[in-house]
This record gives sequence, C-alpha cells and structure tokens, in this order.
Amino acid sequence: MLKRDRNTIGIFARLLDFIYPSVCEVCQIPLTHGYSLCKNCRSEIPKIISPFCKKCGEPFDGKINDKFRCQNCDGLKVDFSFARASLKGLTLSFRLVHGLKYQRQFFLARELALFLKETLEEDPRFAEFKSAILVPVPLFWRREQWRQGNQAYELSRELSRLSGHETIEAIKRTRPTNTQTKLNRKQRLSNLRDAFRIRKKHASFIAKRKVIIIDDVFTTGATAHECARVLKKDGGVKEVAILTLIRG
Ligand SMILES: [Zn+2]
Ligand SMILES: [Zn+2]
Repeated sequence: MLKRDRNTIGIFARLLDFIYPSVCEVCQIPLTHGYSLCKNCRSEIPKIISPFCKKCGEPFDGKINDKFRCQNCDGLKVDFSFARASLKGLTLSFRLVHGLKYQRQFFLARELALFLKETLEEDPRFAEFKSAILVPVPLFWRREQWRQGNQAYELSRELSRLSGHETIEAIKRTRPTNTQTKLNRKQRLSNLRDAFRIRKKHASFIAKRKVIIIDDVFTTGATAHECARVLKKDGGVKEVAILTLIRG
C-alpha cells in the first residue's frame, strides 16, 4: 500500500511539472495566455540575429564578409550542414533552460519552443528541411530517469506541435558520459566516442530522410557533430542540420 501511495504522489508531482503557473516566470505578473513569459520579458530575451557564423551559429558584431573566419569553428570538420541557435547564451536564457533541465519545469518547453519555431521560419536554409524529422539529443537512460525527463525531447515535442515536423527519438545514448562543461572540443569528442547508436526500430524510418537535431545548448558542437555522424553513417540519413535554443 505504501508503495502504491508513493507512486500516486510521484505521478501527481510529475503532472504538476507540466502544468504551467499562471504568472510570468521572470516578473511574476499574472498571465492568461497559457505561456510562461509576458510580452515584455519575452521581448527582452536576446535573440541571435544576423550576422552570425553560417556554420556554427555564433553571433558576431559588425559585418561578415568573404574573408570572415569564425574563431570557433574555422577548420573544424563537422557532419552537419549548419548549426543555428535561437538565443544568445546570457543570464536570462540560461536561467530558463536551467529550470527546464534541472528543476523539472517542463512547462517551460512550451514557451521556449516558440523561439525555435521562429528561427525555423526565419532562417531560409530551413526551407530545404521542410519534410525533415526532428531528432532530440538523447540522455543516458539513468540520467533521464534522475532528471525525470529529457529537456531536448520536451523542446522537440513542443516544436513538433508548433511546426508539424515529426519528433522521432532515433538515437540513444549507449553509455553515461562525463559532464562536458570543463572539457575542450577535442576532449569532448573523445568523451563522446561510440556514445550514440541508432535505435533499430526507427532505422528504416530515418534512412534517406533529412533530420534536424534538437538540443537545448550548442557549445563546441561536439555532441551535434557526433549525433550527425551516427545518423548519416549508421542511419543512412541524407542531410543533418542543428537547431538549439541557446548558443553557449
Ligand atoms: Zn514578465
Ligand atoms: Zn563558426
């Protein structure tokens, strides 16, 4: 009986995680539109607008001309066509992602996916990905269980609802990987070696298709590259683009 009660509480708590509070997440004014930010606070979140690097999405001041070399990705070999992020990695955007990722504030995915949708519509390169599948970056199952969800999946699922692109969890993480925060790109790549696999049941569905990989943050691009590599090499995916909420 005790066990059953605990489960009931667990399910109830999890349901609450998906129900958004009816006040703005930032300024706490009451809201009625079913999202988590008021108009003012939403407009203050700094978006990435042109100019930005056409390969890794890093925003720059000034003009990007033919001689432009991005210090973040110049010379790097990547298996995706381009990476695009919606928001600059500043305090407020990181705070919202932190809530989604570590504090089980899954209701925020609904709000944050609106930024992804805007980027999808605004960047003309996504026109080539009209019938693409969305594939969220997976967590290792134990980490997902511990966090009680995967932020990339929650964002992807909400973006599906807004855009009509289907979300398919086509890749899985086969082993736990150390946190990448303090690693450079080379260390991250070796940390991620053989960490991703195609889920067999989705293999026939993704072959020859285009894929947009969805994640919360793009930092060095090592995770995005490794997922794209596996999707193309083992999954027969035709082309991969990356869409993340934040350029970290
Ligand atoms: Zn507000
Ligand atoms: Zn770049």
